[in-house]
Amino acid sequence: MNVALARDWMRAAADLIAADADRLTQLDSAIGDGDHGVNLNRGFTAVVAALEKTPPETVSDVLVKAGATLMSRVGGASGPLYGTALRSAGKALPPTAEVQPADLATALHAGLDAVRKLGGAAPGDKTLVDAYTPALDAFEKAVAGGADLAEAAAAASRAAEAGAEATVPMQARKGRASYLGERSIGHRDPGATSTGLIFQALADVS
Ligand code: ADP
Ligand code: MG
Ligand code: MG
Repeated sequence: MNVALARDWMRAAADLIAADADRLTQLDSAIGDGDHGVNLNRGFTAVVAALEKTPPETVSDVLVKAGATLMSRVGGASGPLYGTALRSAGKALPPTAEVQPADLATALHAGLDAVRKLGGAAPGDKTLVDAYTPALDAFEKAVAGGADLAEAAAAASRAAEAGAEATVPMQARKGRASYLGERSIGHRDPGATSTGLIFQALADVS
């Protein structure tokens, strides 16, 4: 992945989130406060603007800047969580214009660790962790097996989507949806769904 591809990834993520903003908001209306699409759309629009204003020179800087922008522009749960994921991923990368799939696997791993540390969610709690965890597993396995970025990203995207779908029968144990208790069962988690879009964007540009 070079710096241009990293920027394309963030732009593609912004486009997919904008296109699905209403759906994300509807999912959040069912088990949250109905702002997830609005939150992420505002955040990723700001990410694209920030990356255009001062184009970073390394993949690391692209992700750090994207994360910092989300943290400063999006409130609630998702701003700090998505912000810390991207920022921590970026900080785990070498400061080079181009990074290898194995570097990206390490970075994505650091991003998930940071999300889990900040939010305290484990797999099965019906959060974005339920899409991110299988996506990371698939990405790491593909890279370990010699896959290139496109193959690894495609595997991660499929796993994230399956992970998001698998949140439907779960009862939420973290975030606003947990206030609903058993009534959170039967709905797809909005954050797991948008996390699927971010991995889909990576697969689309790779
Ligand atoms: P808010 O709940 O503050 O309105 P959003 O609606 O933007 O924030 O985001 C909600 C999403 O954030 C949830 O669908 C869930 O995936 C994710 N989320 C909430 N709390 C946590 C947590 N503690 N750990 C991981 N993800 C979480
Ligand atoms: Mg919400
Ligand atoms: Mg909110």
